[in-house]
Amino acid sequence: MKYHDLNIQTQREAPNNARTEGFAFLVRAGYLTRENLPTQLGEDTLDHLRNLSNDPSFLSQLSLQIIGNDNEVFLPIAAGSLEVAHCPSCKYTDRLELAQFAKRGTPEAPLPIEKVLTPDCHTIEALANFLGVPKEQTAKALMYTRLSDSQFIFVVVRGDMQLSEAKLKQHVGEVRPATTEEIERSGAAVGYASPIGLKETLIVVDDLIPQSQNLVAGANETGYHLRNTNYGRDYSAEIIADLVQAATGDACINCGNLLSSLSAISLVTRNEYQFENILLALAETHHDPKGLTLPHPAALFDVYLMHLPGKEMDTRAKADEVYHSLQSAGISVLFDDREERAGVKFNDADLIGCPLRITAGEKALKEGMVELKPRKEKENRLISLASLTRLADPTELWDLIKGV
Ligand SMILES: [Zn+2]
Repeated sequence: MKYHDLNIQTQREAPNNARTEGFAFLVRAGYLTRENLPTQLGEDTLDHLRNLSNDPSFLSQLSLQIIGNDNEVFLPIAAGSLEVAHCPSCKYTDRLELAQFAKRGTPEAPLPIEKVLTPDCHTIEALANFLGVPKEQTAKALMYTRLSDSQFIFVVVRGDMQLSEAKLKQHVGEVRPATTEEIERSGAAVGYASPIGLKETLIVVDDLIPQSQNLVAGANETGYHLRNTNYGRDYSAEIIADLVQAATGDACINCGNLLSSLSAISLVTRNEYQFENILLALAETHHDPKGLTLPHPAALFDVYLMHLPGKEMDTRAKADEVYHSLQSAGISVLFDDREERAGVKFNDADLIGCPLRITAGEKALKEGMVELKPRKEKENRLISLASLTRLADPTELWDLIKGV
């Protein structure tokens, strides 16, 4: 492929909307527009990644520091839009809203239920302060209506925990917050609700609730709560499940070590590759201050070939010879055939980030040589033109480089 045919437009400056260095380099190197749309170079690179993905070891060939589980693979990056829970010890990983963690109940002997006046206690915080009990001694009520059949759903989690709506939806389907009218119709009182004595209600409790005794819950009467409510004795539920959100510092469900939460992007979602995110992950991982440093085989082109216009010799013709030989050996080449200054071409080669750069310049060509530079290395090497033009397949190129 020739530079002109791809219509590559590189840029000197990073776009001012760049949230990450990887995105900035993808725009500067001409893979993406500032609006995050793939250019021709970007589309071709995405197609190349799609082809590679037929190999089961695809992701492991990309040299990315990935984390994940059976269904999903993530790359942690600071600007990632997802929050992921990750255990650094056993590598347990899941989306934060779906992550499980080890919970600790508060087993006690059940005490008799007791109705108490709790004026203006509309939040768990206010209630716990007013009664002088820790938040883990309270039950938090959340009320929803199921979209499919308008079923009223009463959810109970411990007062020190946050409900994960994503987990709830896995058990009951899509829901919306219940209206005041729907809450009152069930027999519950807004702000003072508990599942005790409700009508036509689907009760769903977090699995920590049956392990936590003597919780403060609403009395279903404005201004009052009940002390010492106990699951099993005072109410029961149709569904008992893990419903609460994990957070940094919770104990890993597998090994008990502390979970951390990381920002990330998803590279595989429900067993499907997210190729745009994989391209971003490559750029995020493989770059230096000058541009992308894409590894083989992730790069669309293995070789960036360029010629330096000569005074006596037709360097372009020699570069053409190399171009055709490499192509017939099945090596993917981006041929920068522009009559540009050397500096411009070197900059573009660094930005675009092909694993190898081959330069046909007059001085070396007079000795029958061309310059070869792996993108991640500092020094040029000289290699004979003849050794390049007699390559028979791509592996011979990589063997040749190791031997130089
Ligand atoms: Zn763990």
